[in-house]
Amino acid sequence: MSHEDHDHLRCRKLAESMTAYIDDDLTPDDRLLIDKHLGECGGCHNYLDQMQHTIDTIKALRGSAPAPETRAKLLGLFRQWKQDREDC
Ligand SMILES: [Zn+2]
Repeated sequence: MSHEDHDHLRCRKLAESMTAYIDDDLTPDDRLLIDKHLGECGGCHNYLDQMQHTIDTIKALRGSAPAPETRAKLLGLFRQWKQDREDC
């Protein structure tokens, strides 16, 4: 990954890492990049908030993490949301 990619983590890239981020399954470097992007991009920040909240709610209700297909659905929603905002 070039230095420029680090400086300009795109929303699309963040979408790819979103579930890993929530699962705390990223390298510290990747996590920092996402945190940085979230600090600069209100849209992604809000969406991650919502997604995190949804997953927390599911966890509280079920007593366990949501099934992978549930998270895949959430990620699909995020990708769709991003496609409507291609200029981000
Ligand atoms: Zn973004």
